[in-house]
Amino acid sequence: MPRRKRNRRIQVPPVIKGMSVYGVRGRKSNEVVLRLEEYEAIRLLDYQNLTQEQAAVHMDVSRPTLTRIYEEARNKVATAFVEGRDIIFRGGDIYFDENWFKCNDCQASFNDYVEDKPQCPVCSSSEVITLNAYYSQ
Ligand SMILES: [Zn+2]
Repeated sequence: MPRRKRNRRIQVPPVIKGMSVYGVRGRKSNEVVLRLEEYEAIRLLDYQNLTQEQAAVHMDVSRPTLTRIYEEARNKVATAFVEGRDIIFRGGDIYFDENWFKCNDCQASFNDYVEDKPQCPVCSSSEVITLNAYYSQ
C-alpha cells in the first residue's frame, strides 16, 4: 500500500508570487520554482529564527522531513542567486492554517471567517478563489 503523503501546514501566504533578477537584459530568465513548503521552511528557520524542531511542529511534519524540505529550499535559492534566475512561488503539498483567499480583481490576499460567500475586503469584489486553489494552478 503506498504511503499517503501528508500535506504541510503553511501559516501565512507569501506576499509576492516570486522574485525577479536585477540587471539582466535581453533574455528570459529560466526560473526556479520554490514550492510553498520550501518557502515556509525558509521563513520559519531563517526569518523567524526558529529551531528545526520548532519549525517541524509548525509545519506538522517530522524533523527529518523538515530538514529535507529546508535543504532543497536553500539549494534552490542558492541556484537562483548564483545563476541569476527568477524565483517563482508555486505548488507544494500544503494547506493553509486558516481560510485564505485571493482576489482575482485586485490580487489582495486575505482570510475571511464568512465561509460561504467570501468578499474582498480591499475592493469588495466577489471574484475570489481559495489560496489552495491559487497555488496549485
Ligand atoms: Zn479585491
